[in-house]
Order: sequence, then C-alpha cells, then structure tokens
Amino acid sequence: MEQKRDIRALTRDQLKEYFESIGEPAFRATQVFEWLWKKGAKSFEDMTNLSLSLREKMQQEFVINHIRVDEMQRSNDGTIKNAVRLYDGKVVESVLIPTEKRITACVSSQVGCSLDCHFCATGQLKRMRNLNADEIYDQVVAVMNEAENFFDRPLTNIVFMGMGEPLMNYKNVLDAIEKITSPEGLNMAPRRITVSTVGLAKMIKKLADDEVKFNLALSLHSARDVVRDTIMPINLKNPVADLAEALKYWYQKTKKRVTYEYVVWKGVNDQPEDIAALVKFCNHIPCKVNLIEYNPTDDERFVKASEEIYNQYVNELEKAGIVAKIRRSRGKDIDAACGQLANKNELTTVSE
Ligand code: SAH
Repeated sequence: MEQKRDIRALTRDQLKEYFESIGEPAFRATQVFEWLWKKGAKSFEDMTNLSLSLREKMQQEFVINHIRVDEMQRSNDGTIKNAVRLYDGKVVESVLIPTEKRITACVSSQVGCSLDCHFCATGQLKRMRNLNADEIYDQVVAVMNEAENFFDRPLTNIVFMGMGEPLMNYKNVLDAIEKITSPEGLNMAPRRITVSTVGLAKMIKKLADDEVKFNLALSLHSARDVVRDTIMPINLKNPVADLAEALKYWYQKTKKRVTYEYVVWKGVNDQPEDIAALVKFCNHIPCKVNLIEYNPTDDERFVKASEEIYNQYVNELEKAGIVAKIRRSRGKDIDAACGQLANKNELTTVSE
C-alpha cells in the first residue's frame, strides 16, 4: 500500500491545490488549515464542518501526526520539562519557564545536535534528524496548555533554545514560526519569539534577506577565535570576524538588536582580554549580553567562573554603554536548564 502523506507537511497553497485537484472549492483549504493548526484536530473525524465523504477521502490519503508528552517533570522553581515523543518514537525535550511577568516555552528544533559544543550536554548526542514544522509547533501548543493549566496564565514568549541548531533546520523552523504567528495558527507576535544560533554566518545573512520579524540570539561565549575554536568547533568555519560581518548585515536589514549569550568558565574566558574582546565585539551593532550561569554537565573541564568575574564582565560592559544581565539558571534540579537537555530519561532511544 502506498504510504499516506503527512497533511501537516503541506503549506496552505499546497492544501489549496489538493482541494482544487479533487474538485473542492479553495476555501476548504482555509477550513482545514484552521482545524489542523488553530483547533489542533487530531483526526479527520473532528472536522465537523466537512462532509463525511470528504473526511473519508482525506483519511485515505493523509495522516495527522501528533506529538505525545510522554513525561512531564516539575522543578522546585516551577520550571516544567516535557519529554516529547515524536511519531517515529524519537524523543526531544521542551521546557516551560515561568517568571513573574512571563511564561516562556523553550523548544527543540532537532533530535540531538550535530554541533559538538564541548560544554553542552545536547552536543554529546548525535544529530538524528530535523524536526518537522508541526513537531515544533506542537511543542509550543503543549507548553501553552500547561501554562493555562498550571499557572492560569498565557504563554508569552517562545525561545528556540532547546535541542538542536535552528538554523540547520531553517525551512521547518521558519514554517513553524509562520504558523505560530499566523491568525489561523496561534497568533503570537513575532517579537515574542527568539531564535538562538551557534553562529552560522551565512544563515544569519539569509535570515536578514528573508526579513524575518523575530529576534535573534547568538551563543557567543567568546569573541576570540583562539578560545572559541577550542570550545565550539563550528567557529573554525565561522570565525568571529565572519560573525561580526553577518551581524552587521542583519542589523542593516532588520534594525533589530541581537542578544549574545555568554557563559564564563574558569581558565577558559575569564581574563581581562576576554572581556575586552567581548566589549569590542559588542560595539559592532546594538546588542544586549546575557551572561548565563554555567549548568554543569558531565564534562569536568568546565567550571563556572566566580561571581566576581561575572560582575567584572557586567561592569566593563556597562562602562561601555552595553546592557548586560546575569541570568540565573532555572530548572537545574530536573536537568531542564540551558545545555542540560540530553534525554537523560531516554538514553536508550537517543544513543542507539
Ligand atoms: N544551537 C542553538 C540553540 C541552543 S540554545 C545555539 O547554540 O544557540 C542553548 C543555549 O545554552 C546556547 O546558548 C548554549 O550555548 C547554551 N549552553 C549550552 N550548554 C550550556 C551549559 N552547560 N550551561 C549553560 N549554558 C549552556
């Protein structure tokens, strides 16, 4: 038997073409799109404003895949981590991060990751596949429901800071965001969405060319090639000067400031020349620096720098007129913090 197609892999135009091809009016595409995305229909039977025969016809041709939250863990600081099972049995993780003013969903874009940043637990898993747009979208919906159920508040922000490198799954990430921001989808404002990248110069320029409206964050961690090369192998092909050039291009086109994520480690990037290099890098375009607390993984080479060093960073950046904040990590007790997502409860699935 021919394999059924995943209906949520179709764009709105492709849906329209499908309905035209079977002699149905084009507005069926809008109806079905809403069922699939806004109303989260899990089967064709749910689509009650379509005739039974049309529903049966679609059922013969398509499937509707859905993620399943296999396990939900709650941290003592309120953070929630979901282990999300995909249609083919693979697992990714997403996180709900509550603060006083916001509820943020942190979502994954790939199963595993190919980057191998030495300080990151996800980097130790190999990349298994890209997530489809609907799998990214569904993670947001799952967190959105948890926000309502457990906090009685709406989801306010989305960050692509879970597993994987979003810009290595460019099309699906942008498709997902298109649906998340669409009125027929979740109708979230793009300025509430942040895509974080390890720093792929070419793809940052592509985002600028595509005139995206969401925010960009760059995982910098060092503005010196001699250091960055040793902790993030991707830097060998995307050196700091190339990143600076790509960011200037981004700013020129989008006029949006970029957030730099930066962890400080003892003996790695805790010297005055490291701070000076970061200040210099920050002068390229308007930006903000988030100094992130290191969340220990199993690698003993990395040890969090002292509070004093973190404060030195903040002082020097502020002196240069740059906004810098120290970000305390959340959800550490359940391995939900930055760099800790490693499907620990699912090792058999991911390391196969
Ligand atoms: N691949 C993308 C998305 C992942 S975001 C990117 O690199 O930006 C996850 C963030 O957590 C990145 O900024 C990453 O550098 C950071 N991170 C990774 N391991 C960490 C750790 N052990 N402690 C704190 N932050 C970490």
